[in-house]
Amino acid sequence: MTDRLYNKDAYLQDFDAEVLSCEEGKKGYEIVLDRTAFFPEGGGQPADRGWLDGVEVLDVRDKKEYVLHICDKPLKAGSRVHGNVEWNRRFLHMQQHSGEHILSGIIHRLFGYDNIGFHMGKDFVTVDFSGLLTEEQIAKAEKEANEVVFSNREIKAEYPSRQELASLEYRSKKEIEGDIRIVTVPGADVCACCGTHVHRTGEIGPIKVISDEHYKSGIRLTLEVGWKALEDYDMKHRNAKEISALLSVPPEMIADGVEKQQEQIQALKNANIALKQKLFEKMTEGIEEGSRKEILFQEDLNSVEVRRLADLICAKTEFAAVFSGCDEEGYKYVMCSNTMDVVALGKEFNKVLNGRGGGKNPMIQGSVQASQDEIRNFFTDKMG
Ligand SMILES: [Zn+2]
Repeated sequence: MTDRLYNKDAYLQDFDAEVLSCEEGKKGYEIVLDRTAFFPEGGGQPADRGWLDGVEVLDVRDKKEYVLHICDKPLKAGSRVHGNVEWNRRFLHMQQHSGEHILSGIIHRLFGYDNIGFHMGKDFVTVDFSGLLTEEQIAKAEKEANEVVFSNREIKAEYPSRQELASLEYRSKKEIEGDIRIVTVPGADVCACCGTHVHRTGEIGPIKVISDEHYKSGIRLTLEVGWKALEDYDMKHRNAKEISALLSVPPEMIADGVEKQQEQIQALKNANIALKQKLFEKMTEGIEEGSRKEILFQEDLNSVEVRRLADLICAKTEFAAVFSGCDEEGYKYVMCSNTMDVVALGKEFNKVLNGRGGGKNPMIQGSVQASQDEIRNFFTDKMG
């Protein structure tokens, strides 16, 4: 059995231990010690990293009553080693885990929902709850959670007796065997948990819900906690500052600024559509009413414009085809006719020139990788 030192002292970073065994596994050497401060992955909290003498600990796993340290090099069974847990990483996990307890406890108390899933990622934490929450409800829970943080309460981890447990109300993710460890945040949460937590709530730092989405029949909240919340704030602050400078509006007005800019863009788009319409009318002015076919090439038209131009031409001719693009990059096209079967013609066109696309009479559209000369030759061959 490995003595799990982190259960008694979550702040222990350095320790000495004896190597009980070392075996080569799939992902590295699996080293078992008589005692360890390394936390193995569990209850949503990721495993620790660190060092055993000069050997790197790549992962830490539970194996029944033992803790496996997955290492890049072997250690001799029977030898004494000095262990060192990578503290920055562990402390982030402690902040995130403790923050999650507080928010989950408060949501449970306020709205009666259970935490049904918890995941600590590299950059954020997600918590799944069994019911839906409104924006106001999330804001209320978040505010209460931060009040608990600022009141700097002591977080306790204890092993109550069976008798004490029976009369205790606590949150539990699953049935736990053996001694149950109860983690208490006074006024916020009582929960059975095997993870590592900070001593006092003030060490957690800010708790911020950054997004929410439906998940199963409930909700998934994404949280930033502690140093991670500050990192997130810093990133968002830098972005807001940059956008504010670009729009020449104060940071608290950037959403309005973007909205205004979108309105301007829409007005420009409308003006552009009107101008294009005039241009198309000019372009089609010279086309003789009732002529047999008209093939037109024009650079830089989008698909809607290609269709509109083809429509205008087709009002005067039996057959119209509009191509937009260039020889190097190919063309998108629209063909239409009120008298001919353009579907059949398009099929042949695509076959001869390796094009693609289709549609229904009287109009088809597609794209082709061919030169202007090749395209013109096709129509001259087919239609004279
Ligand atoms: Zn916990």
